Amino acid sequence: MTTEIFYFSATAILLAEKNLRVSGNRFLRLVSNYLPYRDTAVDWRIRIRYWLADRKLSDIAQAIANERPHTTLELFKTRSRKFHADRERRRETLDERFTCDADKCVKCGLCEKICPVSNITRPDGQPQWQHRCVECPACLHACPKQAIDVGSVTRGRKRYINWHVKPKDLLQR
Ligand code: SF4
Ligand code: SF4
Repeated sequence: MTTEIFYFSATAILLAEKNLRVSGNRFLRLVSNYLPYRDTAVDWRIRIRYWLADRKLSDIAQAIANERPHTTLELFKTRSRKFHADRERRRETLDERFTCDADKCVKCGLCEKICPVSNITRPDGQPQWQHRCVECPACLHACPKQAIDVGSVTRGRKRYINWHVKPKDLLQR
């Protein structure tokens, strides 16, 4: 199951809680950046993924213009609910294995600025995690020195931010 499906399904669930429903859904596979789970794809695969996504976007636009019906996949909704409930339960422990390599860190502060939930402080210049991580995982990918890891699992794995986006575009403040 892809991250995209999780997020789409989460949206459907949130809407349902407000007595609203998704009137159309389409899956668009992009590039997985969830490093603890798997390494980032090699560049040629990323190019293909975007090429396919562009083609599919045209189909999606056409479907919306024509108000074509669709099917919501209940299985994905169920799985997604479990996934997010599990993450929410473990929220305070999700960043326990985050580490910063003191020899690599240049104390630039980008990780702190890029975190969408202000989960990083830097009392001595290097990041410390405050246990409200949402596993986005922007800090891992944005660090210019690849100093941040999740235990040993992500060590050596390829960092990736969409080629059209600069880290500064993602800054919170
Ligand atoms: S982004 Fe990397 S180098 Fe910069 S402060 Fe954070 S861990 Fe250190
Ligand atoms: S993974 Fe995302 S939410 Fe968690 S500390 Fe890093 S930037 Fe913040």
